[in-house]
Amino acid sequence: MREKIVPISTPAKGAVGKTGFWRTFKPIIDREKCIKCLLCWLYCPEGAILRTDDDITIDYDYCKGCGICANECPRKAIEIVLER
Ligand code: SF4
Ligand code: SF4
Repeated sequence: MREKIVPISTPAKGAVGKTGFWRTFKPIIDREKCIKCLLCWLYCPEGAILRTDDDITIDYDYCKGCGICANECPRKAIEIVLER
């Protein structure tokens, strides 16, 4: 039997705990602009964008604020703001 291949990684605690605390910048989704195309989910290198049947959310426990999701979003629906 062939092994199941899962292309999307899932975040996990590192040696120093959850990695979201590394973040300086934070992505915010504008739900009015989002068309649920899932490109952000696909490109997030941390697996920090969570997908449900009809929505996406950002897992701030693991998002490092790299901004790739905002860069790839075709609708410019993700704003990167300074973490407070
Ligand atoms: S890439 Fe942009 S438009 Fe597509 S699901 Fe993500 S936030 Fe929404
Ligand atoms: S800022 Fe980076 S780590 Fe955070 S959700 Fe976007 S792509 Fe993933």
